[in-house]
Amino acid sequence: MDFSRIDWRILGCSAAIPAPDQYPSAQSLRVGGTLLLLDCGEGTQIRIREVGLRGATFDLILITHLHGDHVFGLPGLLSSWTLQGRTKPLTLVGPQGLSDLVQVINAATGGTFSYPVQFATAERGCVFENEDVRIEAHPLNHRIETWGYRVEERVAPRSVNYEAAVAAGLEHADFRSLQLGLDGRTRSGVLVPNASVTVPGRRGFRMAYLTDTRYDQALAAFAQGVDFLYHESTFLERHQELAIKTGHSTAREAGLVAAAAGAGCLVLGHFSQRYARLVDFRDEAAEVYTGQILVGQSGLNPLAAAE
Ligand SMILES: [Zn+2]
Repeated sequence: MDFSRIDWRILGCSAAIPAPDQYPSAQSLRVGGTLLLLDCGEGTQIRIREVGLRGATFDLILITHLHGDHVFGLPGLLSSWTLQGRTKPLTLVGPQGLSDLVQVINAATGGTFSYPVQFATAERGCVFENEDVRIEAHPLNHRIETWGYRVEERVAPRSVNYEAAVAAGLEHADFRSLQLGLDGRTRSGVLVPNASVTVPGRRGFRMAYLTDTRYDQALAAFAQGVDFLYHESTFLERHQELAIKTGHSTAREAGLVAAAAGAGCLVLGHFSQRYARLVDFRDEAAEVYTGQILVGQSGLNPLAAAE
């Protein structure tokens, strides 16, 4: 699989209270020329620097829900971008109340933004689309309004065979329409059938980000066929009562969703700090899911780890 246009880092995936090396939820994901942030727990701006993204300009922030361990890093990050003189527009997608949260903090602290900020309230279906990426949202089953996201790299339906196209008399300016599946026509007017100079395009990268949520088998349909599924596993099965009570999942339940979704790789995260051995999460999920399982941790590059 060609994921050369993708760069994905887990900045943090611990539940609840931050500690050294235990950062709450945040992930950066670059898809082609588009850089997005999934959740923004406390310390995210520090982690962005630490993984080498200092100075990177994020286009989009997707927030799952307004629990503090997913959003307390947001005011500081947005404020720092103003201090750095950012001018590029930013899109923020999340649950109802996200815009109020940011504006209340700005009003109380006298903050303003040096860049345009556009808020979009998450709803079922497509919440963002540009030339690189298409993102869909789906409601999760947590204690407050929470959204999962599915991110798909957009790729051209056809890939041009350069030598064949040139030999047929086509020029570089024709390639874009060929990628879209249209026939070509040479400067002298000769028709060049699309199939004679193209092959089917590669499949784009697909991932789903499902946190925080109670086990919900319906999520498998939303995450169907993804290359990577990030699914929270706050608890192990022996604490399933706690998972039910707090609206979280166990590692086994994350494995069940990954198996039903046919996910290529399962990335576990959002571990409760009560557990010392994170390998137990992988072992438990492996009882029901036979694909590769990665134990999420701050700094993990899932694409590199999965190779
Ligand atoms: Zn939560």
